[in-house]
Amino acid sequence: MPKLDRVARAYLLLDVLQGFALTLRYMFKPKVTIDYPYERSPQSPRFRGEHALRRYPNGEERCIACKLCEAICPAQAITIEAEPRADGSRRTTRYDIDMTKCIYCGLCQESCPVDAIVEGPSLEFATETREELMYDKQKLLDNGDRWESLIAANLGADARYK
Ligand code: SF4
Ligand code: SF4
Repeated sequence: MPKLDRVARAYLLLDVLQGFALTLRYMFKPKVTIDYPYERSPQSPRFRGEHALRRYPNGEERCIACKLCEAICPAQAITIEAEPRADGSRRTTRYDIDMTKCIYCGLCQESCPVDAIVEGPSLEFATETREELMYDKQKLLDNGDRWESLIAANLGADARYK
């Protein structure tokens, strides 16, 4: 741009006016941003969020301690210990997930024969310490209880594609 043009633009404040015009134009267009956390964008039924262990409607744990999820986890984030109950059923005595290792691949959920371990809809689980991201069985079951209705709806919506 020639020097005279640059000087004229500076004195006439053309760049500022162009900026104002652009702002004015976008003021009347639909917003592309949302006011999170008061507004939320739609979430896919396949969203892979915080893990949860589910129960059957009668309160019994779904997990049968087959350890397929532990075996398939590429990050080796899952640790399971199990022993038979008095009634002969097999259940976990320990189910830990190191969430700092997890890469949210969803393979644990895909491998589970009884839809026990799932990646739920929750995405707000940031913590201040690493220790808080070492999830134990109780934490995972609590997550399952908290999110069950949404998890069941999401699994139902996705079922016909499996
Ligand atoms: S989502 Fe993937 S990395 Fe995370 S616990 Fe499951 S299998 Fe492991
Ligand atoms: S969560 Fe599912 S895959 Fe993992 S041990 Fe339990 S039943 Fe098996």
